[in-house]
Amino acid sequence: MSPTTLPLQRYLAALHEKYRTMDAGAVTTYIPELAKADPNWFGICVVTTDGYAYAVGDSEVPFTIQSVSKPAIYAAALADRGRGPVLRKVGVEPSGEAFNSISLDPQTGAPLNPMINAGAIATTGLVAGATAAQQWERIVEVMSNFCGRPVTVDEDVYRSESETGFRNRAIAWMLKNFDVIDGDPMPVLENYFRQCSIQVTCLDLAFMAATLANGGVHPRTGKRTVPADEVQSVLSIMATCGMYDYAGSWLYEVGLPAKSGVSGGVIAVMPGRFGLAIFSPRLDENGNSVRGIAVCQQMSREFGLHVFGVSVSPSLVLSRVFTALEVPSRRLRPPPVAARLRQVASRIKCYCLQGEVAFDGAEFVVRSLMQATPESDSFILDMHRVSYLADSAAWLLHDVRQLLVAQGKAVVFSRIRGRAVVEAALRRTLPEGDNGYLSFEDNDLALEWCEERLLSAEAETSPPEGTVAGFPLFSGMSERALTLLRERLRSMDYPAGAIIISSGEEEDDRVFFLREGEVSVVLSLADGSHQRLATLSAGMSFGEMVMLGSRARSASVHADTPVRSWTLSARALDELAVDHPEIKIAILKNLSLDLAHKLRQANQLIGVLAA
Ligand code: GLN
Repeated sequence: MSPTTLPLQRYLAALHEKYRTMDAGAVTTYIPELAKADPNWFGICVVTTDGYAYAVGDSEVPFTIQSVSKPAIYAAALADRGRGPVLRKVGVEPSGEAFNSISLDPQTGAPLNPMINAGAIATTGLVAGATAAQQWERIVEVMSNFCGRPVTVDEDVYRSESETGFRNRAIAWMLKNFDVIDGDPMPVLENYFRQCSIQVTCLDLAFMAATLANGGVHPRTGKRTVPADEVQSVLSIMATCGMYDYAGSWLYEVGLPAKSGVSGGVIAVMPGRFGLAIFSPRLDENGNSVRGIAVCQQMSREFGLHVFGVSVSPSLVLSRVFTALEVPSRRLRPPPVAARLRQVASRIKCYCLQGEVAFDGAEFVVRSLMQATPESDSFILDMHRVSYLADSAAWLLHDVRQLLVAQGKAVVFSRIRGRAVVEAALRRTLPEGDNGYLSFEDNDLALEWCEERLLSAEAETSPPEGTVAGFPLFSGMSERALTLLRERLRSMDYPAGAIIISSGEEEDDRVFFLREGEVSVVLSLADGSHQRLATLSAGMSFGEMVMLGSRARSASVHADTPVRSWTLSARALDELAVDHPEIKIAILKNLSLDLAHKLRQANQLIGVLAA
């Protein structure tokens, strides 16, 4: 698959083509060196949270990062000092003013937010380091982490700004006046000028945005760059203050946390999904890239990216619900027990959860369980397709489990194994004094456990010893026929754990009649795991397919307990059929009935699974 054929790549190329000729706005001149920028430079890049990079136009042209560095350094200050100390020095209120406004809180003198220059200079003074030189090392480290490569400074731009940045110098002294900056404010200001002069490309900025989208972890290097808890702090500030006095309109129209800079860079973040960066030095009167805004507006509109526009129904976490009547466990039971179970099997319900289960999704599941409670006895929560379980959601599930258990119901989990996130959330949120929850390898075992629970609540019927006449395969036979058959049966006993039939075996032509004990029919899957097809008890038979002429055994049969059985070889039956064809016909008829029943069950299962 060549990248140029990917739909998003073609879409971005078309967008680039459309806005390439948009020539409104002008390259900034207040930093003399920046005036040298080519007004036609134009790049668009998208980096997904799984690290795929889309790039069109001037994606590799180096330029100075300017104010797009502000969210990165704010993230570093939060990581290095903690939220409280940072909030005491720099606020989180939009200023609604230009980036270089001297917007300080009238009471405390603290800058209103870290995205305007006053707040950004204060933030630069907050990163870790005892001296300005050490703080500079930290700034380089953070910016390199965000870009996923070592970054350097454009010395010409740095000198140019330092020589002409009188307004920023005034701001720095104001901050000193209000004790927002401790010590000499000038080295802090020089670090700020240098930080703004770090050279990046449009692609670097897209990786920076993608790191914020990816919960603070760079999607290519895998390096944690922002503490997980602080990503939302940084994104909130970007959403409300990232576009200066255009911030309100930006949130209204585009609806993505973003940050722009006077050299023409813009980043926007779709949390959890991707980072977007545009580079085009023509600026509007607010100091935002004209084409950058146009591209973001169009993409947000066409792709529905507005963060408040996302509406995912919590009911989506429930992929399906089925009962043990529709999908029974693989344990086969003697006909009277099976009949009893069928009466009550719909009281066992399996809820299959999927995707990211947060508070709202769990609330929906909990309400569904409560609603079904009167006509239910046991609930299985199948977690196999859950990719994420929030602690708040796990807490709700534990809560409803305790509530229902107190009412004599059962709530068990299945298929948690291999879902580390799910397991961790359930363990972390286990209420104090709770004995824990039952968890089964698969739904089959969970269903069987629930069935046994339902059956044992009723009168116990001990399984009858298998007599020859009692086997369904021999049902409707005359006494004479039964005697003839009995003469041809061989006794075979097995210890627990013995393999009675091995899958693939071709020579063995015996049908087994289980007189005592239990066996399981097991299919070996390609991935090395095993799937139980059935568990049988006394009075049932297995291995009957040899009578239909199929040679190789299709599954293995293991003795779960010590087993006593009779065997009848297909050859012996054929010999008997020479003089008594009616015996073989009757057996085949009984077998057909049994197969028809199994087929109906299999069809029902397919119906449930395909729904
Ligand atoms: N270095 C620039 C300044 O402080 C950054 C401003 C910006 O990109 N908006 O003026």
